[in-house]
Amino acid sequence: MEPKMSATCACCGALLTGRYYTIPGNDACYCQTCIKTRPRCESCGVPLGSHHWKLHDGRLLCPQCHSTAIYDPAIALAVFQETVDGLVSHLGMRLNVGVAFRLVDAPTLHNLRQQSHRLPPGYSPGQDIRTLGLYVRNGHIRVIYMLYGLPRLTFRMTVAHEYAHAWQGEQCPLLENEVLREGFAEWVAFYHLLWLGATRAARRMLESFHPYRPALEHMFDLERKFGRAGLIDYLKRAE
Ligand SMILES: [Zn+2]
Ligand SMILES: [Zn+2]
Ligand SMILES: [Zn+2]
Repeated sequence: MEPKMSATCACCGALLTGRYYTIPGNDACYCQTCIKTRPRCESCGVPLGSHHWKLHDGRLLCPQCHSTAIYDPAIALAVFQETVDGLVSHLGMRLNVGVAFRLVDAPTLHNLRQQSHRLPPGYSPGQDIRTLGLYVRNGHIRVIYMLYGLPRLTFRMTVAHEYAHAWQGEQCPLLENEVLREGFAEWVAFYHLLWLGATRAARRMLESFHPYRPALEHMFDLERKFGRAGLIDYLKRAE
């Protein structure tokens, strides 16, 4: 969010005479009052006007995010399967056992995350983490849980990330290193976005302040060294 100069506020329509603000990944401009006082879209962070959606678990969505959001479990399953098929075809990431899929709400996903005891690098227990998806392995049961109401591209990016963890569970038996685990999952999501033609969303992954970004950059270093197929082989042997 960076102050600039001129036009009208995309939220309240007020003339922007002084400072105005933008949200990363969005060209619209907002006044200081809207930025400071209005609730924000859970997904993209824009200030919300009266025209917005409230999901049953309390999350608020802007009209743009709502327009592609996935609410229906049958549609979610179909998009999940399309994503998995894409990862198999463009990165060769086939699973032998496979992984089940469930669409859940925010409190359910939060509880599952608490039980999984896995925290992203740089996070401490108790810190609030915005979880969009989660891979859980419990004995023979392997499941990817996804948050409902995610915009389609966010959904696909998150499925690709979690599917990479499912793949690691099968193909990288020794892998414990969190930087390699999360960096590779982000790398898979990045290439999936490029494969979909979503270059803007892929570029955002390289520009945003995300806790996994240094891990993703480490993957690009390894890719430059080993090549794409070589990186995947490297992961299989890594600890
Ligand atoms: Zn405004
Ligand atoms: Zn939004
Ligand atoms: Zn992850």
